[in-house]
Amino acid sequence: MKQLTLIITFCCLVMIGCNDSPRLKTVKVERPKYTIVIHGGAGTILKKNMTPQKDKAYRDALNEALNIGESILKLGGSSIDAVEKTINFMENSDLFNAGKGAVFTHEGKNEMDASIMYGKDQNAGAVGGVTNIKHPISAARAVLEKSEHVMMAGKGAEDFAEKNGIEIVDPAYFKTERRWNSLQKALKSEKGESVLSEDEDKDKKHGTVGCVALDQDGNITAGTSTGGMTNKKYNRLGDSPIIGAGTFADNATCGVSCTGHGEFFIRYTVARDIAAMMEYGGKSLAESAHYVINEKLVEKGGAGGIVALDQEGNVAMDFNTEGMYRAYSKPGERVVKIYKEED
Ligand code: ASP
Repeated sequence: MKQLTLIITFCCLVMIGCNDSPRLKTVKVERPKYTIVIHGGAGTILKKNMTPQKDKAYRDALNEALNIGESILKLGGSSIDAVEKTINFMENSDLFNAGKGAVFTHEGKNEMDASIMYGKDQNAGAVGGVTNIKHPISAARAVLEKSEHVMMAGKGAEDFAEKNGIEIVDPAYFKTERRWNSLQKALKSEKGESVLSEDEDKDKKHGTVGCVALDQDGNITAGTSTGGMTNKKYNRLGDSPIIGAGTFADNATCGVSCTGHGEFFIRYTVARDIAAMMEYGGKSLAESAHYVINEKLVEKGGAGGIVALDQEGNVAMDFNTEGMYRAYSKPGERVVKIYKEED
């Protein structure tokens, strides 16, 4: 009996000793209460082409967008609310190619695409080619929550949105002078009547908005909204309404929103590819985002970028263009950037 007591005491001492050993202590990094990251499009965004006023207007808009999402997350609101409301604000701004600021199609119309995905259950909703929905991201959310489908397009999507109380506007609401002029320039250059500068040519492909949020319950949502590409034809759809290409979210890995030359993002399923590297390859978010955007996509010739975050609140804002309107916020930390040289 005495011997048994001695053995037990010895084992206990060894265990206490082990617990105290710094070698075995695991450092647990607390995840931030919430995190939110946004983009307002990637492209040929050069400081030399910006006025100080324009620069300030974009930074103010990015800050304001973050404030909206952050105020929801701070109070314990859901990531899906934060993403929708943040994108709604960006859709109301004519600075971005989404909602009010959407670019024109070849026929002089505005056709918008959006998608949203909830990382907890991987439910998703998307609309493509809609012309009269003030907030396409809200219509995408309605598809997610109020239908058995993931993706709706054109007139059907518009009817569904209207039936579900989503705000409908006259398509003329989306007409802005700036985007109209961009279309006229693109049409002239197509007819050979003028030549777009290299910057203008590259720029007609970019400008989408996106948001990814992690809420206090640990749920990730990703959303993307766009007018697509200037001078697009034949009801062309880009990556933004396609789950896995322009938007993806899974609590187990990450949430991603993309912007760039949609055809490439569709072919290489960019958003899902980043999550898949984490899921199957055990890579970190930073490694996965860098590889897909700055190695694979560059090799394939696809211009653009992403914003993403993981369960721990790590943020990635990778792009392979001259710039990307980008920003993130978490408790005690906020970053707002435009140009490449700010990294
Ligand atoms: N990805 C969008 C599209 O191809 C455009 C963009 O992000 O600017 O429709």
